[in-house]
Amino acid sequence: MNTPTLFSDLHVAHDWLAGRGLLPPERRSETLPTPLVRLHDGSTVVSFCSNNYLGLNHRPEVKAAATQALHEHTHATSESRRLGGNLGLLGQLEYELAEFKKQPSALITATGLLANIAAVHGILDASELARRWYGSPPPSSHPVVIYDELCHRSIQMGARESSAERVRFRHNDAEQLADILAVYIGRAILVVTEGVFSMDGDMADLPSLVEVCDAHGAVLMVDDAHGTGVYGADGSGTANHFGLTGRVPLQVATLSKAFGGMGGAVLGDERTIAMLRTFSSGYRFTSSLPAEQAAATIAALRILRSEPAVRETLWDNVRRLRTGLARMGIHPPGDGPIVPLHMGTPRAAAKFEELMLDKGYWCVAVTPPAVSPEACRVRLTVSAMHSSEQIDGLLERINDVSSQAPALMGLARSYAG
Ligand code: PMP
Repeated sequence: MNTPTLFSDLHVAHDWLAGRGLLPPERRSETLPTPLVRLHDGSTVVSFCSNNYLGLNHRPEVKAAATQALHEHTHATSESRRLGGNLGLLGQLEYELAEFKKQPSALITATGLLANIAAVHGILDASELARRWYGSPPPSSHPVVIYDELCHRSIQMGARESSAERVRFRHNDAEQLADILAVYIGRAILVVTEGVFSMDGDMADLPSLVEVCDAHGAVLMVDDAHGTGVYGADGSGTANHFGLTGRVPLQVATLSKAFGGMGGAVLGDERTIAMLRTFSSGYRFTSSLPAEQAAATIAALRILRSEPAVRETLWDNVRRLRTGLARMGIHPPGDGPIVPLHMGTPRAAAKFEELMLDKGYWCVAVTPPAVSPEACRVRLTVSAMHSSEQIDGLLERINDVSSQAPALMGLARSYAG
């Protein structure tokens, strides 16, 4: 039997990439970062790859909460929230998270990716779906979604899942956004950005974006996956950091980063959240978050709120790493725990990862389709769990690699952020 064309196309592409070393194997680890990780080849390395910014999943209180919930409810709900999978613990988590983020209401999804799909597609489509299924009054216009060109894939998935018109604006360019908004004035408009950009580490220009959206009657949504639990005087995220608490009407948070768990959340006003619960794909058509994840995140959130010292340790570590890099003439974009080192090609980024791994440090190469082929980078993420010695060790190794392969570091040095 002949190979179906779809497979043969795929196999040709596979062989082409593999022949050029562009399909690097996924590295397997036997343990989670503490930040020490045992890799499957038996070596132990210090990881600078994890989004687990505060290490809260290693805390005994968090493990105990998860274990108790596991014993009480088992490890899975096997149903969506609307069809019997609506554990009380999920409601409790929603209540505590909404209070923390200072938003009226929250909805928990099984992952952060699903939260973005639920939020973007839900807010754009729910009025029309209500009309189609129940005959409610039709929406006043065909909605449009305008998002930062560097927004996470899940935001783009939510936009594609919706029936809205889709437009992108240049990264963090509030002026261009204002020009685009002027074209769509009078329409139902959603503008989406990230609080902290996951591959670049820089923050959204929220003050300008809030002003421009308010002036044009657009709803601003912030995916605060990397800001929640990290930024702001109270840790509630980037809106708080900029003194804009209460000014960003729709937000997304993931439970997989500062909370060290798994899951996502959409935060907004009560009626919007109620409509998402009824009509959003990322919420309705998938099983709910397991009990132990909800219990663990509640415990982690309580620690995060009651022990600001954990976040202070994170920020001390961020400063130590960034100051050390600055001494080497490297000034990565942003000011937080995501620290990208620009390498250019996929091969250069993979080479840097390999050289660092040889010396016992794991910093992962970011290659297409996460970034464009000429903008590959190594993304370091620092956490509260790293010791000063581990950060100094990383800096020493980066310095060694710089002398060993100076061409590799050229771009990281010249990148102006
Ligand atoms: N938004 C952003 C900005 C992210 O970086 C990620 C994942 N890294 C997500 C959403 C999805 O989150 P999760 O991994 O919890 O599904």
